[in-house]
Amino acid sequence: MRFSALRILSEGLTGNRGWRPHWRDPEPKSEYDIVIIGGGGHGLSTAYYLAREHGLRNVAVLEKGYLGGGNVGRNTTIVRANYFLPGNSEFYSHSLKLWEGLEQELNYNVMHSQRGLINLFHSDGQRDAFARRGNAMVNQGDDAELLDRDGVRKHLPYLDFDNIRFPVYGGLLHRRGGTARHDAVAWGYARGASDRGVDLIQNCEVTGIDIANGRVTGVQTTRGAIRARKVAIVVAGRSGQVAAMAGMRLPIESHVLQAFVTEGLKPAINHVVSFGMGHFYISQSDKGGLVFGGDLDFYPSYAQRGNLPMAEHVMEAAMTLMPMIGKAKVLRSWGGIMDMTPDGSPIIDKTETEGLFLDCGWCYGGFKAVPGSGYSFAHLIATGRHHAPAAKFRLDRFRTGAGLMDEEGTGAQHNLH
Ligand SMILES: Cc1cc2nc3c(=O)[nH]c(=O)nc-3n(C[C@H](O)[C@H](O)[C@H](O)COP(=O)(O)OP(=O)(O)OC[C@H]3O[C@@H](n4cnc5c(N)ncnc54)[C@H](O)[C@@H]3O)c2cc1C
Repeated sequence: MRFSALRILSEGLTGNRGWRPHWRDPEPKSEYDIVIIGGGGHGLSTAYYLAREHGLRNVAVLEKGYLGGGNVGRNTTIVRANYFLPGNSEFYSHSLKLWEGLEQELNYNVMHSQRGLINLFHSDGQRDAFARRGNAMVNQGDDAELLDRDGVRKHLPYLDFDNIRFPVYGGLLHRRGGTARHDAVAWGYARGASDRGVDLIQNCEVTGIDIANGRVTGVQTTRGAIRARKVAIVVAGRSGQVAAMAGMRLPIESHVLQAFVTEGLKPAINHVVSFGMGHFYISQSDKGGLVFGGDLDFYPSYAQRGNLPMAEHVMEAAMTLMPMIGKAKVLRSWGGIMDMTPDGSPIIDKTETEGLFLDCGWCYGGFKAVPGSGYSFAHLIATGRHHAPAAKFRLDRFRTGAGLMDEEGTGAQHNLH
């Protein structure tokens, strides 16, 4: 079933009776070539690219809940390629290029909106750091413009420029940055994978990973045992728990990240605005809600909900930056479980168990990575070789210390995020 304006028109004229479910709902088979654990953005995109790029269709995605019920449907939808360090820089650049063709490729409206992202700075030192970042982005082939205070004012006239603690000095504008509709991304990849023969099995929790003679042989699930030649773990905040089923202890801590949305308002905020010093960022959804968030709750947790101290912190930061927001009513808040690595950069790698692969550690930035991660992980699973843009995302960097990518400059240890 292809979507088109003509199709919408003809369905509208004939009572909308021709629409079909977007993906099949098969019973799990007893054996697959490849089993993917986790039906989030990364698991679904991996399945899609396995089928599309490598012709591998005897694949199942096992999801313990419903597709898109995890972080892929809980994030604040920011898509960007403004990373600084080699390793991350080329990966996110590749991912953004995939985003730019995604709707045509999937024939699915993921509402990718390149409305521009502005990272604000509030001191001379921060300006230097953003100038360096902008140069790195341009060197990578992405776009970046350093704005002075008046340049920011043209785009964001509603900010409090003269706040005594955080006066606005300028900003780094990344025009190709923006947002996308998060759950539509999951649905689009799910439909694309299912159409190519991948089985998407919902309500199927993996409870064990079978290993014999150093090789993975399958998984145990709440819907029975499933044999597989290859198994891929892509479970975001649950990575530590699922990897433990294969006897692995990962360098991952799980933390809650919260977000908030206001009532729908007329268009007011045209960009994605990031106020790093206050740990606050915001955009406006196409429905009109102001979508914003802040920092992690700073203790490990598997709870998919936040706490009031962080809510208060985020509201204070919002009021500091844009006092006009005080007039908006907050409708909802929610939380997701972040898989935090010590250096803030991800892992896409094989494991010491033959046939067992790992994709995790996306921290609070894995939504924008969904196309790139799926593409690179599928390449690794299918060929056994690392895909060039993701070649530095090795697991052993945490054992050897070589190749750490401390993107935030906070030090490569958990409690400094
Ligand atoms: C509030 C918030 C804001 C964010 N904002 C942004 C942003 O603006 N931009 C950005 O790039 N990133 C953002 N992120 C991060 C991003 O959402 C995540 O990094 C990314 O979605 C994680 O990958 P995923 O989509 O595959 O995860 P998930 O959707 O969580 O997928 C993992 C899946 O694995 C399943 N699973 C777990 N255990 C098992 C098991 N035993 N058996 C079977 N299935 C299992 C889960 O049910 C889940 O569906 C944000 C996250 C949150 C919570």
